[in-house]
Amino acid sequence: MMEMTKINTALGTITPEQMGPTLMHEHMVLALPGWEHDALREPVEFSDLAKICADTFSEVKKYGVKTVVDASPNDLWRNAELNKAVAEKTGLNLICSTGMYYETEGISAYLRFRSQWVDIIQELYETFVHEITIGIGSSGVRAGAIKVATSHACITPYEEKALKAAAKAQKETGVPIITHTQQGTMGPEQADLLIAEGADPKKIVIGHMCGNANLEYQVNTLNRGVYIAFDRWGVDLLFPDNLRYATLLGLLGLGYADRIVLSHDCNARILGRPLVMPDFVQTLIANWSYTHIFRNIIPRLKQAGVTDAQVNQMIVENPKRIFG
Ligand SMILES: [Zn+2]
Repeated sequence: MMEMTKINTALGTITPEQMGPTLMHEHMVLALPGWEHDALREPVEFSDLAKICADTFSEVKKYGVKTVVDASPNDLWRNAELNKAVAEKTGLNLICSTGMYYETEGISAYLRFRSQWVDIIQELYETFVHEITIGIGSSGVRAGAIKVATSHACITPYEEKALKAAAKAQKETGVPIITHTQQGTMGPEQADLLIAEGADPKKIVIGHMCGNANLEYQVNTLNRGVYIAFDRWGVDLLFPDNLRYATLLGLLGLGYADRIVLSHDCNARILGRPLVMPDFVQTLIANWSYTHIFRNIIPRLKQAGVTDAQVNQMIVENPKRIFG
């Protein structure tokens, strides 16, 4: 008999069948490295933060969502205790990640320093495997996904090392890799690198693919046998939803419903000093929330003739297969 697949969540393991409707790439908070050194950062108690995140996340339950992947890597204040508290408060399955963000907004001085002297591919791999098999710190939470990222139009030597470590950890543990691409670039290159290092293409989700409306780029990436994520709905600041929508319709027309997942890359709170965005920015993120695709995008897809089966494939079946 085949061993049943168990998926790590903040509150223990679940089976693929228990995942249900799933958001594949969200965050609890956005916390860029260094926020905690700002003396005038907005003070926030852990219990208040857990309540803010739980209240915001609870909205997704109205639309039947059962599972959310928190794609925060270690260097973006990935917080297993917070995931645990939010999972307890909401009853949602929260899948925690292990991994590293792209160089410009991620790399720690610690890793930059060590990389002069040691093989950080090996050290990152050991961290990823430890967090997947043993746990994250003393939280008792095991990571259920590996998050890695690349820069705009290039993969830096540091990012290449992180991707290689991720591929090695994927191969050993079986958990999926979820990526960040920057401004609609490097999708095929990420897939090639990960696969060359031994990662299973069926366990790779190339992220933020909806930042590029070029169907040739999309199909080039899909030709590697990986999944792609249209996971920034509502962030018109980075790329217009209209073009995301047109690109997704094109790909569904080509028969790719079984290779695409949907999400928002949203957060409940930005940590640090309060940041007041100018009005034009506010307008360009007005729809950005954990429920935008259910309220606005899926109804619009259906108007264009996309079937319930195709939507179900992207929201339920694909996540189940990726984690199964
Ligand atoms: Zn993200």
